[in-house]
Order: sequence, then structure tokens, then C-alpha cells
Amino acid sequence: MNYYKMYIDGQWVDSVSKDRQKTLNPATGEVIAEFSNGTPEDVDLAVAAAWRSFYETRDWRDMDSQSRGDFLLKIADAIEAHKDELAYLDTIDMGKPLREAEADIDDGIHCFRYYASLIKTPHGGVYEVNEGFGKMHSYTLHEPVGVCALITPWNYPFLMGVWKLAPALAAGNSVIYKPSSNCVLSSVKLFEIFEEVGLPAGAANLVMGPGGAVGDAMSSHPGVEMVTFTGSTAVGQSIMRNAASNVKKIGLELGGKSPNVIFDDADLEGAVEWAMIGIFLNQGEVCSAGSRIIVQEGIHDAFVKRLAEKANAITIGNPLNNPDMGPLVSESHMNKVLGYIRKGIEEGAELVCGGERYTEGECAKGYFVRPTVFDHCTSDMAIVREEIFGPVVTVQTFRTKEEAIAMANDTEYGLAGAVFTSDVTTAMTVIKELRAGITWINCYNPTFNEAPWGGYKKSGIGRELGVHGLEEYQEIKQININLTPGPVGWYEH
Ligand code: NAD
Repeated sequence: MNYYKMYIDGQWVDSVSKDRQKTLNPATGEVIAEFSNGTPEDVDLAVAAAWRSFYETRDWRDMDSQSRGDFLLKIADAIEAHKDELAYLDTIDMGKPLREAEADIDDGIHCFRYYASLIKTPHGGVYEVNEGFGKMHSYTLHEPVGVCALITPWNYPFLMGVWKLAPALAAGNSVIYKPSSNCVLSSVKLFEIFEEVGLPAGAANLVMGPGGAVGDAMSSHPGVEMVTFTGSTAVGQSIMRNAASNVKKIGLELGGKSPNVIFDDADLEGAVEWAMIGIFLNQGEVCSAGSRIIVQEGIHDAFVKRLAEKANAITIGNPLNNPDMGPLVSESHMNKVLGYIRKGIEEGAELVCGGERYTEGECAKGYFVRPTVFDHCTSDMAIVREEIFGPVVTVQTFRTKEEAIAMANDTEYGLAGAVFTSDVTTAMTVIKELRAGITWINCYNPTFNEAPWGGYKKSGIGRELGVHGLEEYQEIKQININLTPGPVGWYEH
């Protein structure tokens, strides 16, 4: 069986404890590999390596931005060369259909290329100022933050890492990266690529292991100057508390319970298909999933009927064979999702379709759940309030635009949301009122490297992707130059 080590200071190493952890294929329940299970002592070693890289050897930090950008381009090319293998690894490790894993790798390639070009582009500004002391130039210089800890979830095992690694490295930081223990394989491969292209030792370190020990040690470590995290809101809160110890910079991309608002005048077939992309893509294991459909009463019956027809037609199977949906990531996560389905039934929501584990044929031993639609839901139900992170969608009905906006915002989260209508004024009114960071009009889920990604309220702090995504990993220094040196006459005596 394959065994994967951690990558610290340019070396592949076992955990100090020599402990190993198994990883499963959720489509079959079979163990597919073992990996080194890290401890806080391994975090100490990785932080020391990153610290040496940033403050002593300085190879990466001091590299001019053109050359650093070239390095990122080499990484992108190497990912492209290994694209099939990376997509395969995410599919067997996490359960997403192969075509979705391939799209993730393509996004990752573009992300490295995007940040390569951004770091080569002049940034900052120069201002000619005069505050009474004579003419001065004031300009801003963007510098790396230093030693950054990056922690990611399992739902996009490769891509969530790339969204952090590409900008953090582009900016010249030295990083310690920890993927979720559920899915480490594509991250190990990415670090093999870093080694292959000759990234300086210590600039990027990979640690693996349980969040409660390894992640906690990363976010509380005095040698870490920034921590960025994608994952659940509860863990994000504990990271924020840990980060206070030495006032680490933080970036948090957290959970969601996003509304998808459908008006009577929407294109029915289009709205239904996008709603499905909103909730069944990646088995619904998507932070921005449109898990609360809020539909106007005139179109409600036709919409729910068509949604149920199409949900029932979804193909489920081994994700390597490209069905519409693969398994959930683990048995415990499947049980959590099935628990929410039972709760929805107990709470009185109407189960329109799905609602159970799927065990037919090749799926007998995997963690598959049928696409599930609940109708006649109310805002007090747990299935409407809590993030389920699976293929389960609730439907609520509204009459007026004001009611729709109130329902959409009736959540502690604020990650994403969408509106479907043929009236541009309605669309813009709803979007403007939505307390969420990522919104769509007449579509759901498309994401771009160029546009900022992040949430309001309990969905997070800061933005990934786009120019903001680079600036998250930069300090900004103000430099003021006196253009007329000499006495200024402030103290006359
Ligand atoms: P999780 O919070 O359980 O774990 C995320 C990562 O944090 C893992 O690497 C885990 O090992 C680590 N971790 C766990 N406990 C920790 C601790 N005490 N200290 C430090 N690190 C710790 O989340 P998950 O189950 O892996 O992923 C699902 C969640 O991620 C959902 O809530 C989803 O909405 C969210 N998510 C958000 C975004 C976004 O962009 N906002 C994107 C993807 C996923």
C-alpha cells in the first residue's frame, strides 16, 4: 500500500511520532493509502523551517517578483502535465465525479497562472503630497507577511489548497500547509510538484494530521504570523481565538446556508437546472451551495415538480465512471447528512424525493445518499437553519419581494445567494439587499479566479481570489520621501 510522508524543509519526513493514518475511497469503503499522521512537534519543525526560509536564507522572499512569477508558471505547467493523476487522486480520495475533479485541476492551473501574472504586475500607488512641510512623495510597497499557516477542508481537496498556496507563495511568504485528513493525496502530489520545479527548501512545508492537534498547534504557534483557514464556522472561531495570542493576521472562509430565490417570472427550466447545480454539484458538499430554495407562490408547484423529476433522474455511482453524483466523503459524514434528513421528517417538512442512503449495485459499500428535496419548510426548522453539507435542499414559499429578502437574510451565515427573475430591477433590488459576499443572477455557482470570494456574517473574514486574495498575504508599507531636504522652519529657535 502506498505510504505518503510530510514535506518539511525540502525533505520527505515521517511524523516525529511515526504514527500513520489510513485514507479510504468513499465509493467502496476500501483503504487506499496511508499517510504520516503529524503532531504538534512536527508543526514546530515546519514552523522552524518556514522561519529559517523567510528570515535567514530568504531565497524565496528576496527573489524578484518576475522570477517568482516564473516559478508559479512552472508549477502551473507541471500541474497540467500531471492533471489526469491529480484528478484521479481527488476522485478516489474524496468521491467527486471525475469530470468535476478535472475541472478543479483546470481551475488550479489557472489560479497559479493568474497569481503569476498578478505578482509581475506593478502594484501600489504613488501620491504627490504637501502637508505644509514641502513637497513629498508618498508611496506604498507590498511585502509578504512572513510565516503563514494554511488550513483547508476536504470538499475541494486540491483546489482549496491552491486558492491559498498560489497567492501566499506569489507574495513571497513561507508557508506551512495542512490539508484535511479525509483527503491528502492530491496535496502530497502538489508538493512533489513543488519539489520537481525546485521551490527553495522551507518555502512550502506540508504537515498532515488531526485538526484538533496539528491545526490547533498551527493557529496558536508563536512563530506563525498569519493563519488562513477554510472550513466550518465552529473551527474558524477557535482559530480566531488562537490567533489573538500574537495578533496573527487571519483569513477565514467558513460555512454557509445560502438562499436561492426564484421569482414567478424566471425561466422555469433554467432556474431548475441552475438550482440543481447549486445543490447537487459535488454531492452538495459545497460551502456556497444553494441549500435554501425560496420560491414565489405562482411558480412553486411547477418548480418543485420539475426539480423532483430531475433530482430523481440523477445518476449515482462510482465517481470514476462519471455519474452525476458520487458518494459523500466518509461514513460519519453520510450519517450526519442522513441524521438531518430524519430530523427534517420529524420537524414536519414534506419529503418530495430522495431521503435515504443509496446502495444499489456497485454502490453497496459506499457512502451514497440520494438527492433529497424537502418542501413546505419553515425558517425554524434545523434543516433550514443549519449547514447540512450534502445533497439536501429545502423549499420555502414567498409572496412579495420583501418577504423573499427577509427569508433570504434569515440566517447567521452570509456566504452566497442567487436570484432568478427576468426583471432586472427585481434582480438588483434582491442582490443589493442580500447580506452575502458571493451572489449570482440567473445562474448558480460559477466562480472565477479574478473575482473576490468570501462571506459576510458567520461565513468568514477577508477574501480569497482576485487582487484581494493576493493582498490578504501582503503587508502594506507606507514610504514617505521628502523631495526638498533641509530645514523646514518648524522650530525657529
Ligand atoms: P472542518 O472545520 O472540520 O475542518 C477544516 C480543516 O480544519 C481540516 O483541515 C481540519 O483538520 C482542520 N481543523 C479541525 N479542527 C481544527 C482546530 N481545532 N484547529 C485548527 N484546525 C482544525 O471542516 P470540513 O468538515 O473539513 O469542511 C467542511 C466545512 O468547510 C463546511 O462548513 C464548509 O462550508 C466549509 N467550507 C467553506 C468554504 C468557503 O470558501 N467559505 C469552502 C469550502 C468549505
